Order: sequence, then structure tokens, then C-alpha cells
Amino acid sequence: MVPENKQMDETTHAPQPRAIALISGGLDSLLAARVILAEGCHVEGINFYTGFCVEGHTHAIRQRKLKKPKRNDALWVAAELGIELHIVDISEEYKDVLINPRHGYGAHMNPCLDCKCFMVKKAHEWMLENGFDFIVTGEVVGQRPKSQRRDTMPVVARESGAGNRLLRPLCAQNLPPTLPEEKGWVNRENLYDFNGRSRKPQMALAAQFGFTDYAQPSGGCCFLTDAQYSAKLADLWAARGERTYDMDDIMLLKVGRHIRPRSHFKLIIAREEGENNFMAGYRRRFVHLDTVSHPGPLTLVDGTPNSDDLDLAARLTARFSKGRDANSVTVRITHLDGTTQSVDATPMSPEEIPQDWYL
Ligand code: SF4
Repeated sequence: MVPENKQMDETTHAPQPRAIALISGGLDSLLAARVILAEGCHVEGINFYTGFCVEGHTHAIRQRKLKKPKRNDALWVAAELGIELHIVDISEEYKDVLINPRHGYGAHMNPCLDCKCFMVKKAHEWMLENGFDFIVTGEVVGQRPKSQRRDTMPVVARESGAGNRLLRPLCAQNLPPTLPEEKGWVNRENLYDFNGRSRKPQMALAAQFGFTDYAQPSGGCCFLTDAQYSAKLADLWAARGERTYDMDDIMLLKVGRHIRPRSHFKLIIAREEGENNFMAGYRRRFVHLDTVSHPGPLTLVDGTPNSDDLDLAARLTARFSKGRDANSVTVRITHLDGTTQSVDATPMSPEEIPQDWYL
């Protein structure tokens, strides 16, 4: 069954089975790929870019002064394992997964089951195009309420088209044997029976393999599981009257403090220097405000503000400047045509800002 023109195993001269492993950068996919490497298979990794990945975006924009340097966890995993990593941009096709999930959303805007099906489908296509034999994921039965349940495991295998070429090494012993096991490409006895939400078995296995510096699961890797981000996305769609987005939309949802005082406009107010600099790249596309008399944030105005709205925007911008306790802060408003005006704004007090303005 192993297709021709495969690499030959150096010791046995038998064709070496080839596995493509989904690498998110988290612990589970690291371990799953490592287990299959130990079985003597050739493993390469595939990492899908949806646009909603946390690392490399917000982490790169903010928190620059943290001691621990930020890294791309998927690349780190590939380097730890010594495998080739293919990073594939699926952000355009992913829109349909997010906007029209057949299986609905999880606790927030995360369409996890559809997302899993789609990613395994793309991995399966890649497998066929590149002459690989099977797909490896770090899924564990019972680990996630929506996408990793005993009854959804077959859904992913079926809807992705991967069928029995989809192997989950961390919980394989809890599932029917797959083709790689039946063919003897991997030994089922060497796979695992992890089950449920506890991470202890994974941490013990990581220790066994000598992995220490892996990404912590609590960090979260996808913005769609984040309540605040999901609320901002829902607000964007409600304000537009349609469920659409482009890459700039989802990038801007990742930065700044989002405040919607009126239905026809919202403010994106930078929270720190990194965000200020990043948002400066979007200035020409938005009416924007910055403070002149005191250090303060850049504010982008998304929508169609009138002059009263801009006075309010100036007071809010002043509120988040170093002049928040001053009687007046000079705020410059730059219009879309490049003309500017200055206003002396009284900073709003926290009590004047209704909580439901914050997205
Ligand atoms: S957490 Fe995000 S990337 Fe992971 S399965 Fe859910 S939607 Fe997809």
C-alpha cells in the first residue's frame, strides 16, 4: 500500500511510511508527531494559517519588553522534532468555515468541529498531492467539548475525506484501528489511550520525551475561543449588517481598546506603544485622533461620525492619555481628506463611560 518512489528506511530498506502531522504549536500535536517518529515513519508537519492565530500577531505587536522572547510555536515544534514544516495559508477559504459552520459554534465564535474537519480535509488533499500515506493529529477523545468528543471523532474522519488514514496517536487505543495500524506502519501497542480533559498524561509523556519548553495550553492559540474577541467580531458583523470580513478587519480586532458609543461608529484606542505604532499604519483609512498637549494614544474612528461624535471621540481619547486628570487636553482630529482640526477636550471620567460601550 505504500506508494512507490518513497524514501527507503536506512536499516530495513523497506519503504518508509510517510505521515503528515498537523502541527498547531501546542503540546498535543508535538507529542503525536513525536510518537509517530518513534515508530520509524517519515514525518513532516503542516501548519494552517487562518488569520486568527494569537502568536506572531498580538504577541509581536504588544509586550515587547517581556524577558522571554516571543516565538512561533509551530516552528519551534518542527525544530524540536527535526522535521520539515509546511505553513499553509487557508485564510481565504476559512471565511466560509467561520461564517457558515455546519456544526455551529463552541462557547464563543469558534467553529471548532468545522475547523477540524476543514484542516484535516486540507491535510488530506496535501497528503494525496505529495504522495504521503496518512495524517496525524494530536486530538484526544473527550478533551474538548465540541470537536474532540467520542461521537465527533468519526465526523472529522468522514467529513474531511481522510477516513481511516487519519491517526490520532494519543488516543488511538480508544478508537477503532486505522489503516496505518492495520498495515503495520505503526504498532498500535505503542500508541496511547489518553482520554478526557486532564493534561497530566500529556505532561508525563512530554517529560518522558524530554520536552520542557512547550507552549502552555492555558495560553490559547486561537482568537475565536476568546470571549472578548468573539464579541468584537459579532459587533463588527452587526454594525455592517452582514457577516463578512477581510484580513485588516480581523487584525484590527486584535489590537486596541474597542469602544462603541453609538451604533454608527466605534473607536479603536491604542493601549500601548506597540499598538500605537501598529495602528499608525491604518491612519489613512480612518478618521483618527491623537493628543497634542499630552502623550496619549492614537484613536481610529470606524464608521461615519458627525461633529458631535468627534467631540465625544476627543474626550474619550483624552481619557486614555496622560492628561486624563487635566482640565483640558488638546486633541488633533485628522479627517479622511488629510485636513486636521484641534479641539480642547475635557477628559471623560470613568463614571461617564457606560460599561456596555466597551466591546
Ligand atoms: S480553537 Fe480555533 S483553530 Fe482550534 S479548532 Fe477551534 S476554531 Fe479551529
